[in-house]
Amino acid sequence: MSVLQKAGLRISVSGIVQGVGFRPFIYNLAEVNRLTGWVMNTSNGVEIELAGSEEGLQRFLDSLRANPPPLSRIDRLVAEPCPPGDYPAFEIQASQPLPGEFLPVSPDVSICPDCARELFDPADRRYRYPFINCTNCGPRFTIIRDIPYDRPNTSMAGFPLCPRCAEEYHNPRDRRFHAQPVACPACGPGVALVAEGQRLAEGETALRLTREWLKQGKIIAVKGLGGYHLACDASNAETVAELHRRKRRSDKPFALMAFDLASVERHCIINPAERALLISRERPIVLLEVRPGTTLAVNEVAPGLSHLGVMLAYTPLHLLLLEPAEGFPEMLVMTSANLSEEPIAFQDDDAEERLAGIADAFLVHDRPIHTRVDDSVVTTVFGQPYFIRRARGYAPDPLVMPGRLPQGLAVGPELKNTFCLTRDSYAFLSHHIGDMENLETFTSFEEGIRHYERLFRIRPEWIACDLHPNYLSTRYAEGRSKAEALPLVAVQHHHAHLAACLADNAWDSDEAVIGLTFDGTGYGTDGAVWGSEVLVGGYTKFERRFHLAYVPLPGGDLAARKPARMALAHLWKAGLDWEPDLPPVRELCEEERTVLRAQLERGLNAPPTSSMGRLFDAASALLGIRQVSTYEGQAAIQMEALADPNEPGEYPFEIAQENILANRLWEELLADWRKGTPVPALAARFHNSVARLALDLCLRLRRDTGLQTVALSGGVWQNRLLLEKTANLLMQASFDVLIHHRVPANDGGVALGQALVAARSFNR
Ligand code: ZN
Ligand code: ZN
Ligand code: FE
Repeated sequence: MSVLQKAGLRISVSGIVQGVGFRPFIYNLAEVNRLTGWVMNTSNGVEIELAGSEEGLQRFLDSLRANPPPLSRIDRLVAEPCPPGDYPAFEIQASQPLPGEFLPVSPDVSICPDCARELFDPADRRYRYPFINCTNCGPRFTIIRDIPYDRPNTSMAGFPLCPRCAEEYHNPRDRRFHAQPVACPACGPGVALVAEGQRLAEGETALRLTREWLKQGKIIAVKGLGGYHLACDASNAETVAELHRRKRRSDKPFALMAFDLASVERHCIINPAERALLISRERPIVLLEVRPGTTLAVNEVAPGLSHLGVMLAYTPLHLLLLEPAEGFPEMLVMTSANLSEEPIAFQDDDAEERLAGIADAFLVHDRPIHTRVDDSVVTTVFGQPYFIRRARGYAPDPLVMPGRLPQGLAVGPELKNTFCLTRDSYAFLSHHIGDMENLETFTSFEEGIRHYERLFRIRPEWIACDLHPNYLSTRYAEGRSKAEALPLVAVQHHHAHLAACLADNAWDSDEAVIGLTFDGTGYGTDGAVWGSEVLVGGYTKFERRFHLAYVPLPGGDLAARKPARMALAHLWKAGLDWEPDLPPVRELCEEERTVLRAQLERGLNAPPTSSMGRLFDAASALLGIRQVSTYEGQAAIQMEALADPNEPGEYPFEIAQENILANRLWEELLADWRKGTPVPALAARFHNSVARLALDLCLRLRRDTGLQTVALSGGVWQNRLLLEKTANLLMQASFDVLIHHRVPANDGGVALGQALVAARSFNR
């Protein structure tokens, strides 16, 4: 028997190590290896000090490295020997936030397998309890009012723990140790079904009645994690069409929810990357290809589209709602509960008032939602996640940036707004706020900024905004910069897109790249409506090298809703006749066309635009796909859905100095259309043409400047067909291609770009 040699070890771990059961895991690992000492959360992660045998310490370290807790992600682990402390036992010490320091706040986490098992275990005391959660899962960001993240600082403050829950909460060996939202049927929140102001039922009866009504084709507002959804049977075409009517936004696709992967697979085709996203702890809405023969009401759920937005049930309430049963729908529509354009409803009175004409009944609960958060929407490109909307499950996790950023605030653009706060090496990009077109959205923008500033202890030293003088976000930035005497940086929209893509890829230099920033609209330095900007630049400066030749945008922003008018504007610009058999010509009556022509000729309420989004709209209208868009980008999205991916043909653009001309493209496209070439082939050729154009522009710039790296940013790059074709062409020509993968390519990423442009300009 050898004499026990006592040694000491100090370990710091950073990464995703808080709110994921890390400290109880460490506690148990220390006990197993007969080590004493302590573990503590700090601002940077977790600190551990251990004393015990050399062997025990080594085993501890090996297990930590090999098998960390399932939800954790260790980015950095530093272990250093130290003199062994004289500790009586191993203990979990209270976290001590240092003044001015912040503790990370976890995003909401979908229900874990352990809790899901207990939920359906008749022997468990939380059997069928809709708010079951643990250290590894449950609400986080949506219920936090302030830090430190303790129960009194959450919307669970009104639910004192019963003795059994308290015992679990305080026991480091329990999987509910320090789970702030822990609850049970005896002490926690409950559900109720409300219709016409009447509380019809509670608990299990409320759930049963809700399911009965859903089966019958009723529309039910369901209070969830970050807000209300509108739920109905996704295979009932009549009900889904009725929901479109009641929401007054006609064609915008609805998201679907399923109980499990098997149900999704019966209706959609899933590749491995999509599967991984669906079952991830974030559980976003994933865009999936429709499986032929599905019984879902596809035409009503997603009119004119080839993909459905699907998510798996992510809370215990959703699992109970969707539990498979004979005759019960396999998938439910679960769409944000709002009228078109308004933010998702999340407060009870407000929801019942605003949704009164839409929902037949309300399945409510009494756990307050502190911050409304929408579902995230993600697709995959080259086997990697590609964000359309970054919200639940991801925010408010900060993005780690290369280098230190001074504390600042970027307020983002007008549409798909997010804002971004910076400090240390973090960019806190907010959850999706929405289109800043009404008071409700503006209010949640203002409240959101204050909430993030308080949570993460940030006092902005500068403010960044869009160059557009009339954006509500810009006005907010101007007001605050005056009131607090802070410098204001106005960042050109497409420069912000470029910087967002660099930041997304952790680009760490002021070196220039080629930026293909293609989107619908952004205010240019010359006052025109930009949108096909080929830039050479980096974080701190940019030059505009090429863009689509200006075309009048008849009716300004309204033109985005009327692709037919945009098509005629493009034909007019290209000197082509408005032949009476063309679909957009047939769409408009003679009087409308006369007014439009006058508008184009005189430039009346028709600002010049180089928008790539509008070029896609025009093509969609010319091909007879879409003459009116009922939501942003509809014409282009439906054209993408129709395009034949195997069609190789293409049409030429011409380049004259900085101008890109589409004249020949329109001529040849129309000639082929007259020959009767099928629309799917023509739609594909249009995509191919833009991809080829992108390559040509980059080749020219490489010859001029020697630059090798190309960043693809802006909402047009949500078009997967275009993105994959373009990126493939560029890679074949040996370019390094940067695409987004942590933030959306659309305007949801602009605030991050603004933040980096401003921070870098102050950091020099
Ligand atoms: Zn759990
Ligand atoms: Zn309890
Ligand atoms: Fe944009």
